[in-house]
Parts: sequence; C-alpha cells; structure tokens
Amino acid sequence: MKISTLHLIFLAVLISVLILPGAIFAQQETAASIAVNPAQQKWVLVIHGGAGGPVKGTMSAAEEKAYLSKLDEALKVGGAILSAGGTSMDAVESAVRFMEDCPLFNAGKGAVLNENGKAELDAAIMDGRTGMAGSVAGVTTIKNPVTAARRVMEKTNHVMLVGGGAEKFAKTQGLEMVDPSYFITPARLDAWKKSREVQPKTPVKTQPSMEKHGTVGAVALDQQGNLAAATSTGGLMGKMAGRVGDSPIIGSGTYANNKTCAVSATGHGEFFMRNVVAYDLSALMEYRGMPLEEAGKMEIMEKLKNLKADGGLIAVDREGNITMPFNTNAMFRGFMRSGGEQQTAIY
Ligand code: ASP
Repeated sequence: MKISTLHLIFLAVLISVLILPGAIFAQQETAASIAVNPAQQKWVLVIHGGAGGPVKGTMSAAEEKAYLSKLDEALKVGGAILSAGGTSMDAVESAVRFMEDCPLFNAGKGAVLNENGKAELDAAIMDGRTGMAGSVAGVTTIKNPVTAARRVMEKTNHVMLVGGGAEKFAKTQGLEMVDPSYFITPARLDAWKKSREVQPKTPVKTQPSMEKHGTVGAVALDQQGNLAAATSTGGLMGKMAGRVGDSPIIGSGTYANNKTCAVSATGHGEFFMRNVVAYDLSALMEYRGMPLEEAGKMEIMEKLKNLKADGGLIAVDREGNITMPFNTNAMFRGFMRSGGEQQTAIY
C-alpha cells in the first residue's frame, strides 16, 4: 500500500497526542525534584528563647546557667533529628515543644500573663519546601501550641485557627489538653502582680524588659536542603485579653521559603506585624539579592531600631548561613550544625 501524505499527517498527530504529553510531564517532574537538592549533607538548627532580657550582670550566674543549659538541651533535641536525616519541620517543632515545656521561657508552661492574669498562647510553623503554614492564636488549653499549628497546616484547608475553634480542633486531633492553670508559674504570677501594682492601666509599655519578651523559636535547614521555621509565645506581659502578636502571623514573626531563608522573630510584636519583618527579610534576599546577614541587620538594626522597636530574630538561608541580630540588651539564642559545632549565648 502506498503511504500518502494524509497517512503521514495522521501518524504525526497520533504520536503527538499519545507520546509528547508524557514527555512533558516527565520533564516537569525532573525539574521539581532538582529544586529539592537531594545530595546535600549539611544541616543547621538555630533557636531563640526571646529578646529583651536583662542588662548584663543583673541575672545571677545560676540563672544564666539554667537558661544556657535549657537552650543546649533544645538544640540537642532538634539536632538529633537533623543529624539522623530527619526533616527541618520535625526539628523545629521538637525544639520548640521542648522550650514550650520548659517553665523558663515565655511559651507554653511559663508564658507571661495577660491583663486578666491568664496565659493566652500563639504559635506558628512554616514549611519552606511547600510554602504551607499553620498557626493558632489566643489558645489557653493546648499544652503544645506549636504542634496544634502544625496540625492546622497538615489537616485543615486553613492557615490560622483562634481561641475556642483552635482548641476544639486540637482535641479532635488527640493533642494533649491541660487546665489553663498548667501554664502559670509562681515567677510569672509574681511578676504579673507587681506589674498590676505599678501600672494597671497601661501595662504593656511599662514592664521591666525581662518580662516583656521570652518567646521561643527555631529555624532549620535539613540534609535534603529544606528550610522550616516555628515560633511560640505567651505574647507580651499584661497584654489586653484577645491581643494577638506577630509570632503566629505568617510573614511577620514566622516565615520560611526554600528560595531564601527561614526566620523566627521575637520582640515588640506590633512593630513586627506592621513591618512584616520575616517576609521583608526574605524579600530583600529574593528581589534584591541581599545576603542573609545584611538583610537581617537591615530589619533589626535599621528599620526597627529607627522606629524605636525592640527585638531580634534568628534566620538560616538555604546555604546554611545563619544570622541572629538583636537590638535589645540580650537575646537567648543558640545554634548547632552538622560537624558538631554548637553554641549558646545570652548577651
Ligand atoms: N513577639 C512576641 C509578641 O509580641 C513577644 C516576644 O517576642 O517576646 O507577642
């Protein structure tokens, strides 16, 4: 049989319909997996236990030691996950959970108290690989708010749940629930009582700085090259009931993006919210090509400082560079890297 031009055209159409789409999808898959950088070995974990803090010399040596050793333990918890090849999401969640359970920090147990003497907690987590995020705000009975935030990300179509709705969801997820009194430590209660004597009407602006902050956060780069960030807090001492700060607001106190960096902030939340600090840092890197350290410095030492806003942040970029700028007297902080390097500091 003679093959006519018509036959040839028919054959070409058949090939393009049956074979080409497969080839295109295969190409897309390869492109997506290259972006994940599977060969990377190095990992980094950075944590903070809040900025603000005491002037050097006002904390006793024993107090300083207690903070530093808890930071060390938190690093070990998250570092063990990363060194075993675990994900940055698991590492930041575990390190933050550890600090939520530690009464020294203003998150989970040991959170500062609001104007009514209650602990109202906020937390967020973000996955730099997928761009997915979850957060909870104003919760009073979830033992580990950061885990609730992760469940919001993974099990709902939403990013943020607040108050009673968040608590109902946490319960259905089988998370550990506690009586609101669980979070209140004698030290925080004392500080709260004193603060009410001093300035019962305008508490937020007049607290001793040590009581103002103490939020916890973690950022990590895992061996697969993926970034993640998490933050958890009781907010500001004496805050109005219902006040939500920057920590659970994606882009303000918490942000992660595999293209740039992962950020967790601490400080006077209202300023971090108005300046969208964590996202702005990432944007300086993404759109201006600014290195991590310079971008972090610009946020904390220029933008916020010019507004007389106090605070700091921790961040890690996709190459594993870290920065921990703060414009306060102190910021409880530490980092750990593959290869065994580990450091903690307060001032
Ligand atoms: N940024 C937190 C807030 O404003 C407080 C802190 O970092 O200590 O809620």
